[in-house]
Amino acid sequence: MSIRRRLFLSLSFILIILLAFGIYMHNLYQTLAQHMEDASVISLTLRSLQHTQIDQASFVKYGKADDANSCCREITEVKNEITHTTLLPGIEAQTNSYIAYLEQLKIVRIQMVESEKYLNETSSALMALISDETQPPNFDRAYILSKLVDGMNTENRYQLSNRQYGVEQLAYLNDISAYAESIRRTASTSEMAETAIMLFNLSRDLYDVNKDLITLRQNLEKLTLQLNTLVDNMTNDMDSVMLDLRQTNERVVYQIKNLYITMFSIIFFASIFILAQLSARINNSLKSLTDGTKRISEGDYNSNIIIDGNDEFATLSTSINSMAETLRNAHFSIVTYNNQLEKMVDAKTMELLQTKDDLEHLNRKLVQEKEKYVILAMTDALTGLKNRAFLISYLDQAINEAKRYHHTFSIMLLDIDFFKHVNDQYGHHTGDEVLKSLAEILNKACRQADIIARYGGEEFIIVFASTPLESAIVTAERIREKVSAAHFTALDLHITISAGVTTYRGDTTSSLIERVDALQYKAKDSGRNCIIHDFEPESDPV
Ligand code: GH3
Ligand code: MG
Ligand code: MG
Repeated sequence: MSIRRRLFLSLSFILIILLAFGIYMHNLYQTLAQHMEDASVISLTLRSLQHTQIDQASFVKYGKADDANSCCREITEVKNEITHTTLLPGIEAQTNSYIAYLEQLKIVRIQMVESEKYLNETSSALMALISDETQPPNFDRAYILSKLVDGMNTENRYQLSNRQYGVEQLAYLNDISAYAESIRRTASTSEMAETAIMLFNLSRDLYDVNKDLITLRQNLEKLTLQLNTLVDNMTNDMDSVMLDLRQTNERVVYQIKNLYITMFSIIFFASIFILAQLSARINNSLKSLTDGTKRISEGDYNSNIIIDGNDEFATLSTSINSMAETLRNAHFSIVTYNNQLEKMVDAKTMELLQTKDDLEHLNRKLVQEKEKYVILAMTDALTGLKNRAFLISYLDQAINEAKRYHHTFSIMLLDIDFFKHVNDQYGHHTGDEVLKSLAEILNKACRQADIIARYGGEEFIIVFASTPLESAIVTAERIREKVSAAHFTALDLHITISAGVTTYRGDTTSSLIERVDALQYKAKDSGRNCIIHDFEPESDPV
């Protein structure tokens, strides 16, 4: 299962717990709210019942219809309120009885009021009759009056709730009736008899009314008692309901507290458990991945990362394993290719080394060739001496150095005498041989540092390095002597030379050559086989 799915399911689980808890709490709160509503209804009902009882007592005492009506209205309101309360089903039935009793009470009391009214009227009529002047003699009237007063006193006592009043009143009215009957029997006149009959009838009516009244009073008392008992019962019921309600509320509050603790504990431990599971999974998987990738990075492409399950880590490990396999194959290919490459490189290196050797050999040959050509470029092909170009360049350099370092050098220009004749007489080849032999003589006669160059056809220039003119003249003379004494070629030829010798005097190359050339001409003019110089003892250093 993927980690995302696990997280989703865990969160869903916690949300479901929260939702269930919420619903349960909602129901509990609703119950509490209902209880609170019931409690307020009960408290209202109790207040209403108290009002009803007050009205009832007032009605019983004064018998006013208004009190009876408000009594009924109040108890009806109580009934309506109670109808909403689920906790008071018994009370509702009791209020129905209470209303019925109240209705009966109203009827009884109204009957009583009417009876009492009639009683009062009848009593007044009786009193009027007894006090009439035309009625029986005074002693009789006095007796009746005393009876009536007694009766009225009893009436007053009734008002003070004398329970024996009814019986006494009835006895009194019986006495009145008997007395009226005796008057009628003994009446002297017809008027007197009629009055006695009226008195009798009145007293009988009063008797009946009083008897009814007694019954009504008894009913009233009974009803009042029943009502009060009923109210007491209702009050007791409500008290016990209130007690239940309070206990239930306390229980609900306690339950809510416990539920809070339980719910938070469940969520807390569930979260810890889920997080621990996830963290262990992530930690172990990461460790496996880290170790595996480290091994792969160190080149162990055969190592496999094993992560069970089918979450992201398992998928990642499969991907890494397949990457490692790809790397393994690639590595194998690279190693194979590398071996081939190394062989190729070795072969190429060998080739290159060979080529390098060849090139070095070639280079050496080239350098030799170059040196050869350089030498050739400055060498006269026939005699092997330096050629004219080299001489000019050498003189330019020697003049520069002489100027800078105040050196001195001397120069000799020599020309073979009558060389044309040699050629003409012995041939050009022999002439060449003579030229080569002369070069050898010059080489032997000069120092290593001196420069001997073939300046023209049979003209040579010798530069005596660091040599004053006087010494150069001596060397030139020696050379002339050696040449004149030498035997040239197999034909044993003899030749002579004429030469000019001078020294450097701040000249340019051309002025120096011109001067020495002029001296050489002078030597020709002087009969040949001689040296002409321009030594001046005052100015030339010795
Ligand atoms: P002088 O100098 O004494 O006046 O007489 P000369 O005969 O030497 O006069 P010139 O300078 O006129 O002649 C030089 C001759 O040298 C001419 C030429 O045939 C010859 N010659 C020049 N170069 C060469 C060469 O390389 N080989 C040979 N064999 N002869 C040469
Ligand atoms: Mg010449
Ligand atoms: Mg010559």
